[in-house]
Amino acid sequence: MSLQAEEETFRFQAEAAQILDLMANSLYSNKEIFLRELVSNSSDAIDRLRIERFSRPELGEDDGGESRIRVGFDKDAGTITVSDNGIGMSRDEVIENIGTIAKSGTSEFLRSLTGDQRRDTALIGQFGVGFYAAFIVAERVVLTTRRAGLPAEEGVRWTSDGKGEYTLETVERAERGTTIVLHLRDGEEELLNEHRLRSIIKRYSDHIARPITVGEDDTAVNQASALWTRPKSELKDSDYHEYYKQLTGDFTDPLGHVHAKVEGRYDYTLLLFVPSRAPYDLWMPEPAQGVRLHVQRVFILEDTGRLLPRYLRFVRGIIDSADLPLNVSREILQGSQAIDHIQASAVKKLLKLLKDMADGEPEKYAEFWTQFGAVLKEGVFDDPAHREEIAGLLRFTSTRSGGEARVSLADYVSGMKDGQDKIYYLLAPGLSDAAASPHLEAFRAKDIEVLLLDDPVDNFVVTGLAQYEGKQLQSVAQGAPDFGAMADEAEKEAAEKADSDYADLLGKLKEHLDGKAWDVRVTSRLTTSPACIVANEAETDFTVARRLRGSGLPAQPILEINPGHPLVERLNRGQDDPRLADWAHVLYDQAVLTSGARIEEPGAFVSRLNDLLVSLTDGEQPA
Ligand code: ADP
Repeated sequence: MSLQAEEETFRFQAEAAQILDLMANSLYSNKEIFLRELVSNSSDAIDRLRIERFSRPELGEDDGGESRIRVGFDKDAGTITVSDNGIGMSRDEVIENIGTIAKSGTSEFLRSLTGDQRRDTALIGQFGVGFYAAFIVAERVVLTTRRAGLPAEEGVRWTSDGKGEYTLETVERAERGTTIVLHLRDGEEELLNEHRLRSIIKRYSDHIARPITVGEDDTAVNQASALWTRPKSELKDSDYHEYYKQLTGDFTDPLGHVHAKVEGRYDYTLLLFVPSRAPYDLWMPEPAQGVRLHVQRVFILEDTGRLLPRYLRFVRGIIDSADLPLNVSREILQGSQAIDHIQASAVKKLLKLLKDMADGEPEKYAEFWTQFGAVLKEGVFDDPAHREEIAGLLRFTSTRSGGEARVSLADYVSGMKDGQDKIYYLLAPGLSDAAASPHLEAFRAKDIEVLLLDDPVDNFVVTGLAQYEGKQLQSVAQGAPDFGAMADEAEKEAAEKADSDYADLLGKLKEHLDGKAWDVRVTSRLTTSPACIVANEAETDFTVARRLRGSGLPAQPILEINPGHPLVERLNRGQDDPRLADWAHVLYDQAVLTSGARIEEPGAFVSRLNDLLVSLTDGEQPA
């Protein structure tokens, strides 16, 4: 085996170079995290060696007792060194792992940081910049490594100033594992101090499960026991918060956490956090972070699909199981009863945490809802088994909430009018459309609260729920208006009279609107508008129609006219008006417009309207 002394130069993959640039310039206010990131990589490398030993006995017996992470410093040379005796890397692995960023969503993430958001660099931490954090404080980084199982001559040295290129050399290295030497930038001398380094480790890496030593002293600076294995009574909120931050890279405290050690048919520990801010990739198909699965404290994999249901995908943390094999794979997880059991208990505990927050700390819960409400809602149709609990956690904007999403279904029910037996809602493309909708007129007049739903997913939420505490959910834009026991006798009589008074006009309008309106009828729904469009009972509501069909109209649009409106009254009196066809179309088209949908022929609408205006100014009367 010949020793290659030559150096080879490589360019960073473009995205890696961009991340490096952002790092060095944006993360400075949290510069200590460089150590946290390197120590955590070392700890992972030690875990990975332990796992690999199961399938490759040639790597030797587990010497877990000796595994360690050392942090050294040299005042004269101006360097900090982090070394471990973990799995190390081969030459190819160095190129693959350190020269590229393979994470999904990297480019989306970078794009999202352009413009104003570029300043929101707190997100960078969440993205898990890891190794590159070294360049926050270092002007040059030298990484020397040898993969466990490879001969001493196959060590690799990687050197870079983080500015676009790195070099690789093959070197001899007696020990397996990785050593990283940071040549500090001018001005970072204060880091070259044992006390300072110890306090950074204590603060950010206390719960790393391996002993971390500083300088010549061989006693571990950290607790060296995984945080979640320690009794709750020993842990303060601040311990949890620091752990959360090191785990996720988030710089803000989480809103809450669940820590539970469960023993019984299955033994496992859960430590799950609800962040206070949505990660940048909450809506991407494959989020970068999820819940970390450990088996007997050894980190196995990070999961974004199996350990928790999708509607809880914002949760971060760890699940540590004593029942799974150490070589567990994603495939094995799919069919694991232990995992089913753990998931069920995690969901229950998380929903309880949210309920307690909603009841006890409504302000905090409002923050939660702003960040994650749209995701949690998916649980209504994704997880029928917990529908009731999730329904209790929903918050809505309503005609009484002043634009804020703060009305719970329980609030709604307690504010119901005497005789009201339904929960009314309106689906609309936006809150301003919803608030201006003619469908709300009669409800406003009767002071009945209506939930205003503008999220496309809301349609599935109301269909999934169907009812809450025995009260049916009812769209105010679908079917005949239904005030149930609230409609008084006088109203019912007036409605019947209007039906017969208007029978002829309705027949004529129907003829003129043949092919457009599926039906025309008189309504008590309106107080100020002359007409509106509603969907047929049996049909899906507007929002779905809007997405299925370009026009945004239901398949069977019904034109409802308001007998109390002067225009409608006049049409009824002057049914022989030669312009009745124009009136019919104008009424219909304006009703379509106020529903938030598009009209088919805007040109025809405008010319009809203008003709009518001219005829009126000419003195022609509609009756
Ligand atoms: P992450 O740790 O989030 O994957 P990093 O940039 O920190 O991202 O590291 C990239 C990869 O480089 C790691 O996934 C790992 O494969 C490898 N790596 C980094 N540090 C070490 C180390 N000390 N020992 C072995 N491999 C390492």
